[in-house]
Amino acid sequence: MLFETHAHLCDPQFDLDRGSAVARASEAGVKTIVEIAESPESWEKAKNFSGEKNDADIFWACGFHPHYADRQSNFDFETMKALARDENCVAIGEIGLDYAKSEASKEDQMALFRKTLEVAGELDKPVVIHCRDAQADTLRILRSFYSGLSRRELCMGVIHCFSGDMNFAEGCLDLGFYLGVDGPLTYPSAKGLREVIANVPLEKIVLETDCPYLPPQPFRGKRNEPSYIKWIAEKLSEVSGKRLEETALVTHANAQRLFRIRNEIKHS
Ligand SMILES: [Zn+2]
Ligand SMILES: [Zn+2]
Repeated sequence: MLFETHAHLCDPQFDLDRGSAVARASEAGVKTIVEIAESPESWEKAKNFSGEKNDADIFWACGFHPHYADRQSNFDFETMKALARDENCVAIGEIGLDYAKSEASKEDQMALFRKTLEVAGELDKPVVIHCRDAQADTLRILRSFYSGLSRRELCMGVIHCFSGDMNFAEGCLDLGFYLGVDGPLTYPSAKGLREVIANVPLEKIVLETDCPYLPPQPFRGKRNEPSYIKWIAEKLSEVSGKRLEETALVTHANAQRLFRIRNEIKHS
């Protein structure tokens, strides 16, 4: 059984076959999916999607991506809190910093990052962190936010689509964060990433696709979807020298711990 920790199935690219994409995932052993809503416009849609009858258990995360950081000035964060209190909302994210692609200023991004971390703290939810070319600032902000908390409270977040070096990985692990691995692990050019991941305990890794983006190697250039997570699981097994069953089992348990959910919750 596999756990997809990061999907964007509410993206318009799935408008024609969202249900069958979930069915294909379920068929491939993916029984739990966390849908990541990354902007205020997508929150309601993700909430409704998670409440519908699906072939897999769908949960959602309520996020405010750094790409939209210039929109926060008049934003009422009470709206975010109210929606994120939904029982199927298991995390705040994705949130974070993107110095590679985002047009919003670093100042705006850091302000939004702090604001959304506060929301997560107030609601006692784990966080899904997006970090692109912003490792030092991400660690500095996470440290200032989480350093006062007890160890138990610390283990509640994931650096999604991890792509940093060993130093960054260690900094994140020290804070108790999980690392999310996806399609790029399978790319021939990603030797450096595989070397880092080989040195991270399997107990700290979760699987994700970030679909419709970042398809694993066999599907490069095509739309990604949750059923493809098995290619990432296979590559992770190879990289960490574990059997596929063990990789699936351990990463599944990690994701349940991260998001504080069990299989039975929605189907009971
Ligand atoms: Zn992201
Ligand atoms: Zn994403």
